[in-house]
Amino acid sequence: MRIGLGHDLHQLVEGRKLFLGGIEIASDKGLLGHSDADVLLHAVCDAMLGAAGLGDIGEHFPDTDPKFKDISSVVLLRQVYQLVGGKGHQIENIDCTIFSEAIKIAPYKVQIRENISDILCIPTERINIKAKTNEKLGPIGEGKAIAASCAVLLT
Ligand code: MG
Repeated sequence: MRIGLGHDLHQLVEGRKLFLGGIEIASDKGLLGHSDADVLLHAVCDAMLGAAGLGDIGEHFPDTDPKFKDISSVVLLRQVYQLVGGKGHQIENIDCTIFSEAIKIAPYKVQIRENISDILCIPTERINIKAKTNEKLGPIGEGKAIAASCAVLLT
C-alpha cells in the first residue's frame, strides 16, 4: 500500500468560470490559473502522483506550456490516472477537503463525488468529499481564494 497527499490553492477572481471537482459551479467569480484552476482535481492529481512516487502536477503539466492553457483539469486527472494505473497501482480510497468561504460546497458534493468516481473508474463509496470554511480568516476566509487537500491510498 502507498499513501499520497495533495494540496492546492487558487485565487478567486472576476471574469473566470468556477470549476471544482470537474463540475462547473454557479458563481460570479472563478479560480485564476493557467488551466481551469480546479483546485480539487489538482489536489487529487498531486495525491495520486505522490502515492505512486511520480513527482507532482507541475512537473507533468508545466504552467509555461501553452498546450495546458485553460485545459480542463478532468483531462489532467485522466492522464494521471493512466500514469498511475500504468505502474500497476489501484486506488483503494480518496479523501478530500475543500476549503471555501465564498462558495457553499454542500449542494455540489454528491455531483463532485460522482464525477471523480467516473474519471477514476472507482465506486463512489471509495471517495469522500468534505467541505469547510476558514472561519472568516485569511484569504480563504475573506473569499479571495479556495483551497483543497486530498489523501489517496493506492494498493
Ligand atoms: Mg493548481
